[in-house]
Amino acid sequence: CEVRVGPLPQRDREGAEAMIAVHDVTKLVRLERMRADFVANASHELRTPLSSLVGFIETLMGPAREDAEARERFLPIMMEQGRRMQRLVEDLLSLSRIEINEHSPPTGSVLVPDLIRDIATGLELKSRDKGMSVVLDLDPDLPAVAGEPDQLSQVFQNLLDNAIKYGRAKTAITVSGGVVARAPVGMPGSRGPCLHVAVRDESEGIPREHLPRLTERFYRVDRARSRQMGGTGLGLAIVKHVLARHRGLLVPESVVGEGSTFNVYLPLSAPAEAPVPVPLEAL
Ligand code: ADP
Repeated sequence: CEVRVGPLPQRDREGAEAMIAVHDVTKLVRLERMRADFVANASHELRTPLSSLVGFIETLMGPAREDAEARERFLPIMMEQGRRMQRLVEDLLSLSRIEINEHSPPTGSVLVPDLIRDIATGLELKSRDKGMSVVLDLDPDLPAVAGEPDQLSQVFQNLLDNAIKYGRAKTAITVSGGVVARAPVGMPGSRGPCLHVAVRDESEGIPREHLPRLTERFYRVDRARSRQMGGTGLGLAIVKHVLARHRGLLVPESVVGEGSTFNVYLPLSAPAEAPVPVPLEAL
């Protein structure tokens, strides 16, 4: 809390000596601290692959200059570290682009089943590599929703990507979609009918205590596993921010030992009002 003492404005001066203004700066301080944490986390995430990359380059320019075998061995590792930094920078840019537009309602119109079909086709190779299949159970008559196609595409891309990354080999991922009569509790604004898409996987599942924190930036249930899978820790944060802009909601559910379901809800009526920004405590 910040207290300022100063002279009164001219028009209010009669009979008074001074003014005390009390400003609650708790939110601002918290926001500032979160920004600082975010920059520290992002720098830390970049520093690890960058140090490793510089280390390999130093070795290849120095002691292993003529060592063809070392070059063969190091180059793929260096490439992977470079790709990791690339993914991280791309996700950071996506997140900041979404945040910049967070207060303006989306302008386009999106047929979600078409969007999901395209994404599933694009991920076929990746899922086949793990012997997985993506089963689509989407109502073909689903109405269009108001939204930005690129941003909504990123939502389902990230959820399907995660289902492939964390799902067990040789299992099926199911994406079902339909209309539900009432929006779930927590949906910003609308309580009426909305579009519901569920992305379900078979995996080790996620312990209940982690569910509320999954959409925090850089939050991972198992850091080593996420890294090994090429994760940036930003996928679900991007999903949350896109859905906030669309006045939608993400509801993760999971049963340990069985698998997880990520439920996406989007309002069916065009969002007439400005989007509800992600509350400070949920960033
Ligand atoms: P990451 O890039 O690490 O996958 P995300 O933001 O997409 O980051 O997800 C955050 C964390 O949530 C992941 O690190 C993982 O621990 C957990 N998670 C996300 N999706 C799933 C899933 N389908 N099954 C199990 N865990 C998941």
